[in-house]
Amino acid sequence: MWNDKNYHTLDYEMKKIFGEKAIKLSIDGNFTCPNRDGTISCRGCIFCSERGSGDFNSDKNKSITEQIEEQKQIMSKKWKSSTYIAYFQNYTNTYDTVENLRKKFYEALNCENIKGLAIATRPDCIDFEVLKLLEELNSKTFLWVELGLQSINDKTADFLRRGYKTEKFDKTYEQLKNKKIRTVVHLIFGIPGETKTQMLDSVKYVSEKNVWGVKLHMLHVLKNTDLAEYYEKTKFKILSLAEYVEIVCDALELLRPETVIHRLTGDGKKSELIEPLWTLHKLKVLSDIDKELKIRESRQGKKLPL
Ligand code: SF4
Repeated sequence: MWNDKNYHTLDYEMKKIFGEKAIKLSIDGNFTCPNRDGTISCRGCIFCSERGSGDFNSDKNKSITEQIEEQKQIMSKKWKSSTYIAYFQNYTNTYDTVENLRKKFYEALNCENIKGLAIATRPDCIDFEVLKLLEELNSKTFLWVELGLQSINDKTADFLRRGYKTEKFDKTYEQLKNKKIRTVVHLIFGIPGETKTQMLDSVKYVSEKNVWGVKLHMLHVLKNTDLAEYYEKTKFKILSLAEYVEIVCDALELLRPETVIHRLTGDGKKSELIEPLWTLHKLKVLSDIDKELKIRESRQGKKLPL
């Protein structure tokens, strides 16, 4: 249904829209996060790394234009395409004055061949003014907004120190939806204390909400995080590759065919990663997911209606 895949990949969707591969350029907008600057907390989410959950090599001290040009150079060695999406990834990319946000987003949009914007943020950092700016950007370019929900279970959210209730996610998601702004929701599997049923409850929830896109992650234990300390103390259970593949395939079967799958496995830096080490073999993880779907004779949305 989606070229050679049994699920609706971002690559498939981008080629359908732009006629060629869209390359995401990761930008560090030099923002912070209310969960780190003391507004909600100083310690951040338990798994969050020093770079604000955006571990790549962009330099926040460079201008947006410089970062984009640098990233284009790097990416052009890997792929030939003239369609780029500027991805504001680190920390909370709507946590600033609207004037500063506007300046940074338009600077990105004015760079050559930037055909879209991806903005990662938190649902409690989209107020009326920010929503208006997002609506304006959405009318000018191909925009999506990413929200790190991780789990719908508020107890799990407390463990993660997410800093907002699922109810807040609901409200913001509905506001974005009403403005026809595409939303990508992040979910994490393998959080200590969560059962498989709870993980799949989060998947069913976002499926019912009919979100535009989903990113599925395995929980990474990274060095110098509070999660690393917690792991050291408790040695909580880490999902095996086989367990993760099974949960991802179950999740795909519950997601609507039109939902775009942005990610099925994470990109933890080898030098930073404590567990699970199998996530370093990204191609194997993806190929095992493909194999499992084939064995099941299954595909995204197979188990719908819910
Ligand atoms: S919301 Fe994002 S940037 Fe902020 S502490 Fe959590 S993971 Fe880190």
